[in-house]
Amino acid sequence: MFNTGISLWSCFPLLLATWVFTHQETPVMEKTRAEKVEQGQWTTEVDRCLFEQMKDLEKVYISKKIWKGYSYRAYPQYFVHRNAVGTLDRAFLINPVRIPPSAIRLDRKESMGLDVWRYDGHLAKADVALFGPFGNELFEFDLLIGNVEHYLQVYTDDLSRDSDDPTQTVSFSIHENFHRYQNKWEWVPEAQQDFRNFPVQQKLLELQILCQEITKDLPLEKITKAAARNLLEQYVAIRTEEMNLDPTKGRLIKNHELYQEQMEGSARYIETMASLAVFDRDSFPSSFGYSLFEFHVETKEDVRGIVGQTVYYGTGASAIYLLDQVGYPIEEMEQGKTPYDLAKTYLALSPQQMNQALARAKSIPNWPAVQKLAAEWASF
Ligand SMILES: [Zn+2]
Repeated sequence: MFNTGISLWSCFPLLLATWVFTHQETPVMEKTRAEKVEQGQWTTEVDRCLFEQMKDLEKVYISKKIWKGYSYRAYPQYFVHRNAVGTLDRAFLINPVRIPPSAIRLDRKESMGLDVWRYDGHLAKADVALFGPFGNELFEFDLLIGNVEHYLQVYTDDLSRDSDDPTQTVSFSIHENFHRYQNKWEWVPEAQQDFRNFPVQQKLLELQILCQEITKDLPLEKITKAAARNLLEQYVAIRTEEMNLDPTKGRLIKNHELYQEQMEGSARYIETMASLAVFDRDSFPSSFGYSLFEFHVETKEDVRGIVGQTVYYGTGASAIYLLDQVGYPIEEMEQGKTPYDLAKTYLALSPQQMNQALARAKSIPNWPAVQKLAAEWASF
């Protein structure tokens, strides 16, 4: 893993000493547009910063093959800007496959080298899709423009979206577009999303919190293959023990938990690994997960929300990272496999090795604290 140390704030202000016309258009129009482009007619600094982040991340997917077969640029996107009073005031087509007649291609100076077109023609439709009765006020997978599905996302001048992380806007797009890519994958047999019936039980909680604890610092700047294998064994041993304890009819540890780790874990994995290659490590959340001791929990539903959903982003991404570190082709997940499936196959642990791995996991210094937290959460 390398870090080029590009500062996120280096895209402000935008000053490119040299630039070249690369796009052929009609000469008369070109002159007018070129003049406007020089003045920043079609974009603001915020837009250009966003495009630069996208461009850098796109490059990383191509050059580092974080996930073989996945290309961020393969999906056309429609990014709409929302101003301070809540109005959508401009929009851009990114990596379009069909160009609406009134769209204007941005010159390199404004596009930052990305294939970007200023196109406000679908602002009204985007507004309804995002802020109408069925909108989530953030994104939509399939806004139709010229009969082509576009990933739609709104952004504001605050690319951090009220956080300390200036990569929030672009990371969100990376994550959601990976979900689109997952649509091509084979279905995990018997997989389901059943958040409501997900079990909350002390012995399970101990293992679920423990799993999060042993993986919460990943990815490391450096990890040996032996250390990765050791942690992967602990992960498999913990999840296997959970399946032994699963009280649900729907076998939700296997069918929900492991499946969520595949879906959300892989999306978190590619999001974090690309960001690590482009941005300063301390400018965004560079770990897949976080310590559960930092959570404020008051009700059983809070607990269910954490162990039934929140943790899988981190534990799933961690398992995938460990698989990658031991040299396993993580893309096999596309054939209807979970990270657990791949790890179990790769490790082929005997029952005795499984017990030893579970004992190693429980030997971490804060195992008593994990048990205490599990007891507390189970008491709600
Ligand atoms: Zn997701």
